[in-house]
Amino acid sequence: MDGETGGSAVRDDGAAMMALIAELYPICRSITGTGLRHTLGILQRLVPLTIHEVPSGTPVLDWTVPQEWSIRAAHISRLDGTRIVDFAAHNLHILQYSRAIDRVVPLEELRGHLHTLPETPDWIPYRTSYYRDTWGFCLTQRQLDAMIDPAYRVVIDASLTDGSLSYGELVIPGATADEVLISCHACHPSLANDNLAGIAVAVMLAQHLMRSPQRLTWRFVFIPGTIGSLTWLARNEAAVGRIRHGLVLSCLGDAGAITYKQSRRGDAGIDRFVAHVLRHSGDPHAIKPFIPYGYDERQYCSPGFNLPVGCFMRTPNGEYPEYHTSADNLALMRPASLEDSLAKLKQIAAIIEGDALYRSRNPKGEPQLGRRGLYRTMGGLSDAGHDEMALLWILNLADGEHSLFAMAERSGLPFAQIRSAADALIAADLLEPVTPA
Ligand code: ZN
Repeated sequence: MDGETGGSAVRDDGAAMMALIAELYPICRSITGTGLRHTLGILQRLVPLTIHEVPSGTPVLDWTVPQEWSIRAAHISRLDGTRIVDFAAHNLHILQYSRAIDRVVPLEELRGHLHTLPETPDWIPYRTSYYRDTWGFCLTQRQLDAMIDPAYRVVIDASLTDGSLSYGELVIPGATADEVLISCHACHPSLANDNLAGIAVAVMLAQHLMRSPQRLTWRFVFIPGTIGSLTWLARNEAAVGRIRHGLVLSCLGDAGAITYKQSRRGDAGIDRFVAHVLRHSGDPHAIKPFIPYGYDERQYCSPGFNLPVGCFMRTPNGEYPEYHTSADNLALMRPASLEDSLAKLKQIAAIIEGDALYRSRNPKGEPQLGRRGLYRTMGGLSDAGHDEMALLWILNLADGEHSLFAMAERSGLPFAQIRSAADALIAADLLEPVTPA
């Protein structure tokens, strides 16, 4: 016990995120349907989310909102009735968007519908078939190896009907119409890191932002991957020009270091802000250039939108062995990783909110700081030498051309230190805000 309130508050955040992930984990989500809706309903308890329903068949850019998939039961049994694979035991057992079937299937035919991971024989793979009319099961290699009967009874009680695609949207209004977009996919069934960790961190970030007034308007979307972002973009095309910064959040709970995938632009404000926070954290991290693969940044960064949206992760999709398998479960989650992901996102948010242009009111020669009590003001902080440097850098660069973030980058000081020194100078009437032309 360190007895320090900041530390225990952070640990409370980790516990709260773990609890949310554990609650959401058993739900069988998909790109449409009751599991996704149920998930959004649970998030609605924590943040005032609006749930949108977009009817099946609605054209969205080059795509169409699919029919709604409902899965009630699915199992493979021996002909004596013994169940050997059961959706009720693990929701990854069903190939997502499988059509209904109820018949005895010869093993040779059945094999063509079974998906396993031979190299990790105790893990169940996660497979989908959203836009192809078929059926199938995912099972462990050991389950498959034990299947030696000539035929099995196969039951999938599922339906594909006209319904709607659901997504959740939370708008935290700021003082300006400029927007920050935070996007998470919420369409994966029992997978913890790839899906639920990003959702949990996003919810906590939203709660953090709602506690104080913000300058920018923050928009959080919880959407089914790909079709959800396409749907959101199609419905909000006229408004996307307001997005100044954006992040897709995913895979934020594993033990790996942070990986940031840059926006397509590569030099957007968000790209520089994230790099700044990661560099000053002193923690290992990786920054990767944009590629047109991965999560919904593919849609936000398509050339017709080219939004300043990067992807904030720990170990990226496809780069950890448990990815898209039953081993991406609660045991893979590290509360400390969730806490660290959230803490870094709060720092990025603080730059987005706190970056601004100021002009010195005393640009001819250095103003006399001691007379204004500024050294004493900053004296309570741990490194007085650096704080003095922060004051001097700001006074020197506050020519109305350099933003506080540009000053942080040029001085090599962390943004938070520049921001708090700027606040001290504002309080001493030495800085005035500049509204960009
Ligand atoms: Zn995934």
